[in-house]
This record gives sequence, C-alpha cells and structure tokens, in this order.
Amino acid sequence: MEKKIPYKIYLEENEMPDKWYNVRADMKKKPAKILNPGTLQPVTKEELSGIFCEELAAQELDDTTPYFEIPEDIRNFYKMYRPSPLVRAYCLEEKLQTPAHIYYKFEGNNTSGSHKLNSAIAQAYYAKKQGLKGVTTETGAGQWGTALSMACSYFDLDCQVYMVKVSYEQKPFRREVMRTYGASVTPSPSMNTEVGKKINAEFPGTTGSLGCAISEAVEAATTQEGYRYVLGSVLSQVLLHQSVIGLETKSALDKYGIKADTIIGCAGGGSNLGGLISPFAGEMLRGEADYEIIAVEPASCPSLTRGVYAYDFCDTGKVCPLAKMYTLGSGFIPSANHAGGLRYHGMSSVVSELYDQGLITARTVEQTNVFEAARDFARIEGILPAPESSHAIRVAIDEALKCKETGEAKNIVFGLTGTGYFDMVAYQKFNDGEMSDYIPTDEDLQKSIANLPKVEL
Ligand SMILES: *Cc1c(COP(=O)(O)O)cnc(C)c1O
Repeated sequence: MEKKIPYKIYLEENEMPDKWYNVRADMKKKPAKILNPGTLQPVTKEELSGIFCEELAAQELDDTTPYFEIPEDIRNFYKMYRPSPLVRAYCLEEKLQTPAHIYYKFEGNNTSGSHKLNSAIAQAYYAKKQGLKGVTTETGAGQWGTALSMACSYFDLDCQVYMVKVSYEQKPFRREVMRTYGASVTPSPSMNTEVGKKINAEFPGTTGSLGCAISEAVEAATTQEGYRYVLGSVLSQVLLHQSVIGLETKSALDKYGIKADTIIGCAGGGSNLGGLISPFAGEMLRGEADYEIIAVEPASCPSLTRGVYAYDFCDTGKVCPLAKMYTLGSGFIPSANHAGGLRYHGMSSVVSELYDQGLITARTVEQTNVFEAARDFARIEGILPAPESSHAIRVAIDEALKCKETGEAKNIVFGLTGTGYFDMVAYQKFNDGEMSDYIPTDEDLQKSIANLPKVEL
C-alpha cells in the first residue's frame, strides 16, 4: 500500500547500502573484454595494475561477483553526505499539471557538487590501502578534479591534477577549491612531462585538450614512484561505486511501496546513469521486473544514438585500455558552441552492452531545450542544476507532459547529478539569448569514426 510520500525521502543511516552491486554479474552476455592499447590483446590484471591501483584493477576485470563490500572507511565518509535525498517533485508536477509522479535523486549536496565523489573516495581509499603516495588525474570542467582532491585530502594522499589550460584560466574558482583541498593543479600542456613539453614545442600557445591532459597524468603516474592514475567515469569500477546511487534509490522507493515505471539519467561516460540503473537493470536481467530506462545525451555528442559499437580508445591520448563501446571515435570533439557538458566521445562498455541488448533506450536533446528545462527547474524546484543533469530534467519533463495527454499516473525517476554554480558562463550565454544548437552531420561524425582502431580478436 502506498503511504503518504514526503517531499524528501531519506533513508536512515542503517538503511544505507553496505555493498556495491556489480550488474555485470547478472548479464548473460558480458561487456567485451578491455584490451591493452599496445598489444590489442585482453589486458591482464598485472598490466592494468601498472596504471591503476591493484584492487581497482581487480574490480575492473571482475564480471562475475555480484556484490562488493563497501569498506567501513568509505561507508563512514559516505555518511557525511549520504544518503542523498530522493525528492518528490510535487512543485514541478503541480506546475506541469501532470498526473505523473516525478522523483529525483539529488547528488549535488556535497562541496564537489556532483555524484563524482562517490567513486573518488573509493579510488582514494584503495590507493591509500596499497600504500601509495598519491594519484594523478586530468580534469576538464573540474568536477572530477574537485571530487578527487576532497577524497585525497581525507586520506592524506598527494593529488596531482592536470587541468586543461583553457579551463584552468576560465574557471579559477574550481582551481582554488582543489588547491584548498591540497591538490596541485597544473595547466595542461605543462613543462612537467615529456609529452607536455613535446606538445608545447609543436603547438606554441595551445590551450590544451582533455586527451593531452590524460597523457600527461598517465605519464606523471608511471614515472613517479608510488603513484597511480585514476579516472572519474567510463570504467566499470566507477559504475560499481556509483551503484550506491541506484541502491539507495531502490531502497527509498521500496520503503514507500513505489514501483518506478520510467528511469532517466544523463549520459556522458555513463557512470551516473549506470550507477542509478544498475539494481533496476539487474531485476530486468533476472526477469523479476520491467522498467523503461532512458539514457539522455546531447544532440551535439550522440555516442549511443549515432555512434558505432566497436573497440575504441577510452582517451584521446590512446594510453588507457581499449573498450568495446558505442563511440564517435576518440578524435571526436563536439562543436565549439557546445556548452552543456557530456562531451565524452564514447560510452561505458556496461551501458553500451545493456543498450545493445535493448534494456536501455536512448534519446538526444538539444542544448537550448536543455537550458530551458534547467531554468524552469531552478525556478520551480529551487535547485540550480548542472547543465549535464539538465539533460535528464528535460526528458523527465517531456515524459510527464506525455502523461498529461494520456492521463497515465506514471512514476518517473531521474538522476539529478549535480549543481551548476560553476557553469555560469554557459547560463550567461543562455540568458543573453546567445546559445545555439549544432547537430553534427553524418559527414562530421564519419571523420572520427573512420579513424577507429582496427581490432581483430
Ligand atoms: C561528470 C558529470 C556527469 C557525466 O558523467 P557520467 O559519467 O556520464 O555520469 C553528469 N553530471 C554531472 C554533474 C557531472 O559532473
């Protein structure tokens, strides 16, 4: 029986998950194995452990263990900002005059402002446990770097962030948050690494790219004793940690006897979406329940909807393992007017395989529509959403409006991954009426897709 549902459904501390859920264990057809970028053969745990922490390498390769215990230190850290609320969007429902019931899982209640902290703290924990001195990473917009710097300061680890130079200069406040947490932030390309020096010599005055920052971070990790490289999305280990979002959502819904009908998440590299849907997809895979799952991606970076399902490099620097995924090619760069995030060229191999099996559907939205939804949501529900999260808001609103036509009282659940305080340049463009949409042509996409690596297994 349905109880009166509060505006915010919180779990008690003792109702928080004590295990992460690995959806790969319930997949009959598993995501394809990841490959060594040098040999193009399935990567071994030993090879992977040269770049990543040992236990994270083990999690990355494990597609049979359904549950991983969340270590107590991580559970204690989670308790400082979790469980995150599942909010019933009564005000939005009222405004839309929809019979649908809308819920959102809000992950923006921590200083980093997004769900990325859920995996950052886990990765820092395993680095510490292995006795490492520190970790290196890259950051573009800065959410991942911020989350990682918080996690590293908690475990007293050195954190070296290579930040794409243009963001370093344009987002000084993000940079200062990271430095406040003790991270060293280096604009990339830098003169700290061989690859940075080479790029600076070849392209004087370049403002950098994510691929270049990754190459620098990996070089820094592999050339300093006691360091490893960490990554904030795409990898299966990251989805595993992010399953805490879905597990809490499921418990909160169960607590009030609510059965979700439609579950919506924005999809960049696929980590928040994968984490949110994991327990629900698990039920589908085991034949216990059925849900409509919608991945939302920008029309300007449509990896699921217009990409190809093939092996590709996970990074533009071609140093990380290759994964089979829906991809636009690692050389794909969204058009210069794209402001809404989710600019990754590929999609998590787990999400890609679930999509290929038909468990997930995908949809694209254009950025002006996304920012309209963001503005409306901010005004109605009070939270200033991240542009990335607003892709999910857009589709949740669209689905709720459909229910208005059909009269269906569907339960719509979406992931609100973070807040948008550091995205005011994009909001300014929108508010000034200067935001436009660009949908790449097939020819645009073909250029980068044509350069996919040739893999024969
Ligand atoms: C990084 C980020 C995303 C996209 O990453 P995924 O791995 O696809 O989840 C979405 N929302 C916010 C707020 C982010 O910081």
